[in-house]
Order: sequence, then C-alpha cells, then structure tokens
Amino acid sequence: MVSFKELGLVNTREMFKKAINGGYAIPAFNFNNMEQMQAIIKACAETKSPVILQVSSGARKYANQTLLRYMAQGAVEYAKELGWENPQIALHLDHGNSFELCKSCVDYGFSSVMIDGSALPYEENIELTKKVVEYAHRYDVTVEAELGVLAGVEDEVQAEESHYTKPEEVIDFATRTGCDSLAISIGTSHGAYKFTPEQCTVDPATGRLVPPPLAFDILDAIMEKLPGFPIVLHGSSSVPQEYVDIINTYGGKMPNAVGIPEDQLRKAAKSAVCKINIDSDSRLAFTAAVRKVLAENPGEFDPRKYCGPARDEMERLYKHKIIEVLGSDGKAE
Ligand SMILES: [Zn+2]
Repeated sequence: MVSFKELGLVNTREMFKKAINGGYAIPAFNFNNMEQMQAIIKACAETKSPVILQVSSGARKYANQTLLRYMAQGAVEYAKELGWENPQIALHLDHGNSFELCKSCVDYGFSSVMIDGSALPYEENIELTKKVVEYAHRYDVTVEAELGVLAGVEDEVQAEESHYTKPEEVIDFATRTGCDSLAISIGTSHGAYKFTPEQCTVDPATGRLVPPPLAFDILDAIMEKLPGFPIVLHGSSSVPQEYVDIINTYGGKMPNAVGIPEDQLRKAAKSAVCKINIDSDSRLAFTAAVRKVLAENPGEFDPRKYCGPARDEMERLYKHKIIEVLGSDGKAE
C-alpha cells in the first residue's frame, strides 16, 4: 500500500472547490510516455496551473502501471525543480471499469479514480460506484463517476451512439453513491472523429465542418439539481485543424476529423464544469510534429530529433489550453 500523499500528489477535492468558485476548469491530460509527461509538467509549472494526470487502461497496458506511478512521482519532483514551489498534481485513473482495477490504483498511489459504470443499468452503476467510493474514501482518494453515455472511440472505451445524462437522475445518483464528481454526457465525444459530416454544418467561409453545439440546457438543468457539485466533461479535444492540415500535408490521412470548438469549452469552464479531459489534441500535436520532421529530414534516425519537437509542440498546446480555454493559469501558485 502506497499513499498518494507520500508521493507528493493531491486528490481533486480542493482543486474542484476552488475551480467552481473561481469559474475555471482543471485540465485533465492523459499521458503515455516521458515526452508527454515532460510537456504537461513544463506547461503547468510555467503557468502555475493545477493539473490532473490521467492514466487510461490503454496507457496501463502500453507503459505499465508501476512505471506510470513512478513517473507521476518524478513529475512532482521535476515540477519543483522547474521552480513550481507548490505543485498541485493529481494522478487519476481514467475510465476504470471494475472495483478491482480502482482498488489496485488506490493501493498503488493514485489520488483519484474514475469508475465508469455508465454502460450498466442504472441500479448496477450505483452499486458499483458506491463500492468504489467506500473503498477509496478510506484512503482519502476522490472518485469520479459517470451518468449518460458518450459516443466515440478512445482506447477501450467505445460507444456507437450517445445518451445524454438525464437531469432527473443526478440527485439520486450523487446522493446514493457518494461520488465526488460526475462525468456527464451533453454532446462531447471521444476521439478525433467526434461527429460525422452529416451531423455537422459547413462554414461557408472556410469550407470546414462545424459540429453541433453542446447541450447547455442539460448542463443548466443538472447544475440546478446539484448546485456546486463538480461536473466533468470527457471527450473535449478541439481537434485543431492546423494539426490535421500538417498531418495530411506530410503523408497522413485524417479526413473530416472534427472536435469541440474552444469557445464552447470556455463557456463550460466558467460553470460547474471543473474538469475537462483533453487527450486527442496532444496526440495530434505529437503526430503533426513527428510527420513534419521526418518528411523534411528523411535521413533522420535519432528519436530525440523528432520526439523533441513533438514534445515542444505538445507543451505549446497545453499552455494554450490552460491560458486560453480553461483559465486555470495562476491557480496553483
Ligand atoms: Zn473519457
């Protein structure tokens, strides 16, 4: 048993309280490798932004859970070395799908876990979430639950169609489970292909696809039922078209990749939405940079020469999200 407190990590309780009161959102960035971790920590240390480092089940398989936990511990020390005296870093399990997995993360030093029972019948979701909450809270680990289903594909999370969260269920769910935050479905979606062209309109000026707006009426109804309760948005990458263009210019093939416009996320961040998950955008930044370097330097074979620029590009992206979209800069001085 390792407590997250020994690793210098924090849970999400204080982070979320401050974010709701302050009208901003905490970035939740997924990480799978060293370069991504370095980019996240540098961006957060330089902007003094609290951050949630997320580990998905795909990341656990790719990079090994033990190694990822030591990387998170290293991240705290690295942040201090960069001059961030009081780093506010949470280590979070993204889309935990069983009690056993959540328990193993709690036991391994995670400060926060998500139990995703959203695919289960309502009563089973409650039962599973409650069991995880009871265990996690013994160790002061915070728990995110999910109600409603997001469409899209991300690692092992996959759903054909979305089902919006039902506002009439949220009080009962939050009360009976004791969860600390709730991921809801209001039209965001996992992955880089969030909407089909048929679901979008076309911007006549640019010819680009414009996705349907988020269901802010549902968010408002949820906030009315649960005033001040921390709300989480998954699948909130914006799929920056400049990265898609670079990827397609240098040999890639990503037609009709489209995400959530940043002004919609900015609006959500000002509400009770206090955690916004961003994964695909950093994948796009990384891939765009690698493709460009390799296309322009076909003889290059030193990974540092293309992973380095990819890391720089991700750092730029993370800072942009923190400062221009989430408003979390300067909130962890
Ligand atoms: Zn998700």
